Amino acid sequence: MAEDRAYWQDRACAPDCIGHHEDGDHPDDRACQSSWEDRVTLTCFEPTVRYFGESKVVDPAEVLVFFRREWREAEPCVFVEPELLRPDLPRLRLTLAEADRMGRALRTAVRRAKGGA
Ligand SMILES: [Zn+2]
Repeated sequence: MAEDRAYWQDRACAPDCIGHHEDGDHPDDRACQSSWEDRVTLTCFEPTVRYFGESKVVDPAEVLVFFRREWREAEPCVFVEPELLRPDLPRLRLTLAEADRMGRALRTAVRRAKGGA
């Protein structure tokens, strides 16, 4: 309902949006965010090693894949971002068409790498 929207929202939330939008949201935070996400462990990268006193925590390199529609965008974008602050890991922001094309290219690369046509 329009009266339940923050003043900056010019349309309803996406059906699966988990955002709790408010009038005071910073412009960088004005986005509809889906609850869906997936993560990919990147075994070719060094893990992040942290120490807490005597304890050692090893976090494998992971990227999150998710989508969100920012408030002035016509459609959502797909994001691929490191879970932790890792400048050595990929960070991508793709349109839906670009993400679809990337997915097809990755599937083709895997199929061909396995000896498929
Ligand atoms: Zn929303």
